[in-house]
Amino acid sequence: MYHCGDILGRGSYCTVHEGIYNQKEKVAIKVYNIEKIGKDTLFMVQQEYEALKKLSAHPNIIHLKAILMNENYINEKNNMIHENIMVILEYAEHGELFTLLETLNSGLDERLASYYTQQLINAMSFCFQHHICHRDLKPENILLDSQYHLKIADFGFATSTLNDSNNKENEEETKLLYTQLGSSGYMAPEILLGHGYHGEKTDLWALGIIIFILVCGFPPLKMAVNSDWWFSKLKLKKYDLHWKAHERSYTFSPYF
Ligand code: AMP
Repeated sequence: MYHCGDILGRGSYCTVHEGIYNQKEKVAIKVYNIEKIGKDTLFMVQQEYEALKKLSAHPNIIHLKAILMNENYINEKNNMIHENIMVILEYAEHGELFTLLETLNSGLDERLASYYTQQLINAMSFCFQHHICHRDLKPENILLDSQYHLKIADFGFATSTLNDSNNKENEEETKLLYTQLGSSGYMAPEILLGHGYHGEKTDLWALGIIIFILVCGFPPLKMAVNSDWWFSKLKLKKYDLHWKAHERSYTFSPYF
């Protein structure tokens, strides 16, 4: 038995509530109103469910407890009964990594940044071992539990990196993904160009951006397109110019 309480956050097609399970365990409940969601969203819920079923065992990936289909939910404001899908998740008490960075308005101590980097790499390596890529990695989708451990969440854009085809000769090509997904600042250049892309590689690109933000508190570039000054310097291998410009805002330690 689940009790649905205050709103913790909102996704594009759902609201996330604080909840209590069996009158004792605090959980987060993602509520999708079946009357309002279309086929695409339903597909996303399924993708998230399938991914989390395989990945939940990892300590740095949000734990899926249950999914309830066609649950009736009474809106206390208007007494209307809505039919919902409810995804019951481990509760991440300290919310989004994004909010922490925004509040600090700076990067983290390098030792903490390195500790978090390790957690993110462990979690993503676990995803790749299970042939799953996330496709929307960003600090808004990384949560913090009661002990400030990182938990990767929101697997709505996750997909399999396995080759569906039996055509082994063409294996590399059939592994490519084509749907342009994610948030522009974290998207790899090949996605922004509309090319086919490898989900693992583009997750690693996003991870690189996140790690830079963890240290400095700002991103290494605005968007991975030629018109972006920061990106163009990297593309032209003018690394010195890129780093020197960042050094005006941040003093990198010799270990960086
Ligand atoms: P999502 O649709 O998964 O991106 O969730 C929207 C927002 O709800 C997140 O950005 C968080 O602020 C909050 N949220 C989602 N899942 C949880 C959770 N397991 N624990 C605490 N807050 C959450």
